[in-house]
Amino acid sequence: MQYDAIVIGAGYAGSVSARRLAEDGNQKVLVLERRPHVAGNAYDCTNEAGVLIHQYGPHIFHTNNQRVFEYLSRFTLWLDYPHKVIASIPAEDGGRMYYPVPFNLTSLETAFGLEEGRKLGEKLIAAYGPEKKITILELRQNPDPEISALADYVYEHVFVRYTMKQWGTTPEQIDPNTTARVPVFLSRDDRYFQDTYQGMPLAGYTPMFAAMLDHPNITVETGVDALPMLDLSGDELRFQGVPFHGPVIFTGQVDELFQFRFGPLPYRTLDFVFETLPQDHFQTHGTVNYTVDEPYTRITEFKRLTGQLLPGVTTIMKEHSRAYTGAPGEIPYYAIINPENNALYAQYKAQADRFPNLHLLGRLAEYKYYNMDAIAARALSLTDQLIALS
Ligand code: FAD
Ligand code: UDP
Repeated sequence: MQYDAIVIGAGYAGSVSARRLAEDGNQKVLVLERRPHVAGNAYDCTNEAGVLIHQYGPHIFHTNNQRVFEYLSRFTLWLDYPHKVIASIPAEDGGRMYYPVPFNLTSLETAFGLEEGRKLGEKLIAAYGPEKKITILELRQNPDPEISALADYVYEHVFVRYTMKQWGTTPEQIDPNTTARVPVFLSRDDRYFQDTYQGMPLAGYTPMFAAMLDHPNITVETGVDALPMLDLSGDELRFQGVPFHGPVIFTGQVDELFQFRFGPLPYRTLDFVFETLPQDHFQTHGTVNYTVDEPYTRITEFKRLTGQLLPGVTTIMKEHSRAYTGAPGEIPYYAIINPENNALYAQYKAQADRFPNLHLLGRLAEYKYYNMDAIAARALSLTDQLIALS
């Protein structure tokens, strides 16, 4: 079959792009996916105990982008799920203390006692305003001694050790946008996200992707590495030895696409430890963050996310973060955004830009920290342009 477009990778970037080109661009699209399944890192499946799990880490959909929400809603119904996270911290009495993350007015009262917590909350609201979000790094700049002591408390109990576990370095040394994802929140709203739309695909992510890719103009081949088929050594892009002039959307690692010629882009990878337990539930919340102790960052209980009703059994997952080495089987999960790595990325991007029909899209190809909705939005806007040109 002759294809008009080639999409490499069947995660959000690839699947949304493929569907748009196939349906709204009326193009014949070939999707190549290296893994044995579609859905990229959002892939979910049922384990041997019958629990719906997220193979590559807990994924909660949330967005303020109406277009993205409506687009994805064509392929799934949603379970209304407001994600809530608590921190689990060793307490002075030898037990544990739990409070909402992002650290909010309720967390303040749990940490400092009702009276002191309320006083501190009022002081913060007077300084910043009600319902305001302040990043921990900003809060630490406040010269008021009481606010500064509180900022140190939050830094020590919520951020510094979790960030050391996740990134191997302190909050000051990582991209400030990363800790800004989880600000101090002067509110009683204890949801992790405040977005207008949030939830879980009712039957799971994988069926949503299957529906998106189910179109007569789309051919999906899983278990296929596209790299040996692509030749970028000359002046024009060749696919399986033949010049190809249609759009090629690449959503994999850009350093790998160019044989790591400038050196590998650094990433963090994760080791997921799954445990299935003979009980209805393991914890009260979808995710519990271990912000002070334990070697893992967080424990997720999938039944709490998916609302699955399955008595007598539950599956949890612990996340351990470490440096990505590129060893076989390792997955690069988080780009390490800093000026040096961005400069290295720019060298690869310049190589890709030599080919006007090659488009880098996605977390790996763009070396960015994208949430699912953000990459879906990028795919919609790239395909808007491609369809307008065709
Ligand atoms: P991917 O999903 O990585 O898809 C890229 C695909 O390309 C992969 O399937 C890969 O196998 C394939 N590929 C690569 N190279 C080749 C090749 N050479 N040939 C063929 N195929 C190839 N976002 C949220 O909004 N909410 C969350 O709660 C959330 N939780 C997350 C938790 C974790 C632990 C992680 C790591 C991410 C989380 N995200 C979350 C982010 C979300 O995973 C990404 O936004 C999304 O997966 C990005 O989609 P993508 O298509 O860019 O990349
Ligand atoms: N973070 C933290 N403590 C927490 C939650 C988050 O220090 O309890 C920091 C940490 O550096 C983390 C970042 O905030 O990498 C972003 O957190 P988020 O939950 O958004 O990370 P993700 O779910 O994308 O891994």
